[in-house]
Amino acid sequence: MNKKTIRDVDIKGKRVFIRVDFNVPIKNGRIEDDTRIVASLPTIKHAISSGAKVILASHLGRPLKDKKKAEEKGEEFNPKKYSLEPVAARLSELLGKEVAFAEDCIGEKVLQKVDAMKEGDVLLLENLRFHAGEEKNDEGFAAELAKLADVYVNDAFGAAHRAHASTAGITKFLQPAVAGLLMEKELTYLSRVLDNPERPFVAILGGAKVSDKIPVIESLIDRKVDKLLIGGAMAYTFFKAQGFTVGKSLVEDNMMPKALEIMDKAERSGVKLLLPTDHQVVDSYDPLHSRRTIPIEFTNVGLVGLDIGTETVAVFSKELEGAKTIFWNGPMGMFEEKPFDEGTVAIAKAVAEATEKGAISIVGGGDSVAAVNQAGVADKISHISTGGGATLEFLAGEVLPGVEALNDA
Ligand code: AMP
Repeated sequence: MNKKTIRDVDIKGKRVFIRVDFNVPIKNGRIEDDTRIVASLPTIKHAISSGAKVILASHLGRPLKDKKKAEEKGEEFNPKKYSLEPVAARLSELLGKEVAFAEDCIGEKVLQKVDAMKEGDVLLLENLRFHAGEEKNDEGFAAELAKLADVYVNDAFGAAHRAHASTAGITKFLQPAVAGLLMEKELTYLSRVLDNPERPFVAILGGAKVSDKIPVIESLIDRKVDKLLIGGAMAYTFFKAQGFTVGKSLVEDNMMPKALEIMDKAERSGVKLLLPTDHQVVDSYDPLHSRRTIPIEFTNVGLVGLDIGTETVAVFSKELEGAKTIFWNGPMGMFEEKPFDEGTVAIAKAVAEATEKGAISIVGGGDSVAAVNQAGVADKISHISTGGGATLEFLAGEVLPGVEALNDA
């Protein structure tokens, strides 16, 4: 990685502003999944043990946008739902030490709290997105945030594809600006895929929308991924574009020309692009009782494809054998609904098996991460990326503003 990290700066006694990604699901004040908090612990612990005064900042949801929507619909808006206060309590449990909470992220009161901090103290600021200046990357707001600290650390890889005040603008006013340990880990693993993957390199892409994944598919083909396995609803756009009947399966009609272009590009580049050969379908009029697995070409107009079939699982798993680098994003079917999780879970197991046999595997995006957890193989994956959009943008070869803003090593 070509960026300085928190290990490269002397932070003892300094006020260190760490942009973390604490955008976790919270229901009735209870945190439903603390993966992102846990992922930030190495950086926070490093800062504490180095004697820094640790100031943590994050976004949570979209309070201002949701408030506007609620007002338009005449509904009540509850700002408490967007408070990071429950995260302070959970973080305190995880660290085994007190984590103070500031009811805002800028202003006189927050400055007073920061002034009272001692070495090793931790203060979590309230949700950055209560201020419109955050998403607008407003200079005034960025300067207010910068007043709180002496050193800037970005550990929020999941938000690095956004040029916001706390991920980009702040670095104009607060230097040095360095990467946290999670950011470093993400960039190290993902750069491996991008720059010099050990081969064979196999990418598996799934999910609903082709449109979201076009740039990453094109970038993977440009970088001569050896094999591209495409599953999930996304495959139907490729099938329909080739003239197959896909029934009522999800298709993005406007993406059909692009799908053909991608197939052509893959062929010209010597990339083996594989689509499912069979799928699990239901009759759209009798979804509960009609599930069966059929070859793709047997699909009639009344059917909906909801998962890859057993033959496809076998073919994709075989293609993963002997892989040295694997990148996976997007489920193979509508995996939130059992039994349509079977294909995705089987692929998760195949990725884990290939990893045990020597592949470096990287899984990114919320759904694929949920799938490896569901399959019980998360600990066998080399790297589970905390980024969704950021991971895809990085692998599409785009420069992430939150990374670009950091000091070069
Ligand atoms: P994406 O956000 O594009 O990665 O898509 C993820 C979503 O795609 C998940 O919610 C899946 O349920 C959905 N999905 C994947 N395959 C199918 C399918 N065959 N039919 C309907 N939804 C699907």
